[in-house]
Amino acid sequence: MASEKDEIRDKAFRHLIASYRKPVWLREPGHFRILVKGEGVRVTDIEGKSYIDGSAGWQYGAVGHGRAEIGDAIRNQAAELAIASPEFVNIPCVKLAEKLAEITPGDLTKVSFCNSGSEAVETAMKIAKQYHVLNSEPRRYKVISRRGSYSGVTWGAMSIQGVYRNALSYFEPMVPMAIRVAAPYCYHCDYGLSYPDCGLQCAREIEHVIDNEGPEVVSAVIGEPVSHSGNIAVPPPEYWPMVRSICDKYGVLLINDEVITGFGRTGKWFGCEHWDYLPDIIDFAKGVTSGYIPLGGAITTAKIAEKVESGPIMGLVNTPTWGGNAVSSAGALANIAIIEREKLVENSANMGKYLLEGLKDRLFRHPIVGDIRGIGLMVGVELVADKKTKAFFKPEVKIMDRIFDKLESVGLLCRDFESTLLLTPPLCIIKSEIDEMIVMLDKVVSGLSKDLGYAR
Ligand code: PLP
Repeated sequence: MASEKDEIRDKAFRHLIASYRKPVWLREPGHFRILVKGEGVRVTDIEGKSYIDGSAGWQYGAVGHGRAEIGDAIRNQAAELAIASPEFVNIPCVKLAEKLAEITPGDLTKVSFCNSGSEAVETAMKIAKQYHVLNSEPRRYKVISRRGSYSGVTWGAMSIQGVYRNALSYFEPMVPMAIRVAAPYCYHCDYGLSYPDCGLQCAREIEHVIDNEGPEVVSAVIGEPVSHSGNIAVPPPEYWPMVRSICDKYGVLLINDEVITGFGRTGKWFGCEHWDYLPDIIDFAKGVTSGYIPLGGAITTAKIAEKVESGPIMGLVNTPTWGGNAVSSAGALANIAIIEREKLVENSANMGKYLLEGLKDRLFRHPIVGDIRGIGLMVGVELVADKKTKAFFKPEVKIMDRIFDKLESVGLLCRDFESTLLLTPPLCIIKSEIDEMIVMLDKVVSGLSKDLGYAR
C-alpha cells in the first residue's frame, strides 16, 4: 500500500504544474519535502524530520512559524467582516495604512494595496507612470532596473527583472519599458573595477542611460536597497544617495523594491533607512504578513499620490479585488504588532551581526568560500572554484545541488542564487539557533571542499 507521503507526491506530480523546477522534482524522492508543521524557526516534514528554516520560507516569515495570534486575528476578522468590496473602506485596511505611514521613513504616507510582491512592483511602476502623465510629462515610461534583480511573475515585473533572462524569452515581446544597468555587486563588478577607485561607475551609469535615452522618456529607477537575488551585495555607502541625486536632477522617480528588505529583514524597518536618502515609492509584500495571508502594496508621498488622484478618470487605476482586504489587513496588523512587541527589528540587527561574524570566523578558512557579506538577517556566502581569481564553479559541478542535499540531510533549509548561499532565517532567531546553523554550514562546506579535492 502506498504511504501518505507517496500519495501526496503522486498527486502533486499529476495535478500541479511544475514552476521554476523540473517536473521530476515533484516525484523523485529527495527533491520534494512535504512540510507539515512549523514552530519558531523550525519546520517538520511528513517523516518527522526537523529543519531550521534558514530562509524563512521565501524570505517572508519575519515572525517565524506557528504564531496562533495572527491566525486568531485572521479568524476573528473573517467572522466579523470578510466581504467588503474596495468601493467601501474597511477598518483594518485604514489602520494598516496608518501604521505603514508611521513605520516607513520620511513622508511616505499614502498606500495602494494588492496581494503579492509582483503586484506591488506593478503598483509602484503604475504610480510613477500615472504621476508623470498627470504631471504633463506623458512620454515618461521607461524604467531603469538592475541586472541580478528578481521582480516577480507578472508581465511588467518580468519585463524589468534582471534574472532568468533566457527563460523569459518564452514571453516575448515583453513590456517595452526596461533598461537594465549594473548592480552594485563589488565582489564581481560588471566593469572589473574596485571600490572606491571605481568612483561608483554602477551609479554613474544610471545618469549616462538617462541622458542617452532622453530624460523626457524615463519614468523611474527601481531597485532593492540590498538585492537578495543579486547575491546579497550590500552597496557602498555612496550608492543610494548618488542614485537619488541623479533621479532628482532628471525628474525621475526612485522606487525601492522592499518586498524582501521591508519589515526588519535588514535590521531597520526598511532597507533604505541604512543610507541618507528617501525613495519616492516603496513597494512591499512578504514580511508585512510574514506569509500568513497574502498582501502587498506600494506607499508614496502625499504629493505624488495627490497628483495621481487628480486625473479625470478614477484615481490610481489599480484595484485588484482583494487589495486592502479586511482579513489580510487584520493579519498584517497582528504580524506588525508582534514585530514591534518582540523588538524583532533590533533582533534582526543584533542576530544578523552575530551570524555574519560567526560565519566569517568559521567558514572563511574553507577553500571554496570566496566572500561572506550581509546586512541584518540577510547574509550571503559566495562559493567560488578559485579564491584568488573568484572563478565560478562550472555548471557540471552542480555545486548548489550538492550543498543543498547535504544541508538538508543535517537539518538546514536555505536558498541560493547563482553562486551564493542565501541565509535569511526568521527574525525571531536566537543565538543558540544561529550557532546550530553555523555548525551545520561549517560541517557541510568542509565535507564538500574535501569531496571536491581541495586540500586545506
Ligand atoms: N520583488 C522582489 C525583490 C522579490 O524578491 C520578489 C519575490 O521574491 C518579488 C518582487 C515578487 O514577489 P511575489 O513572489 O510575492 O510576487
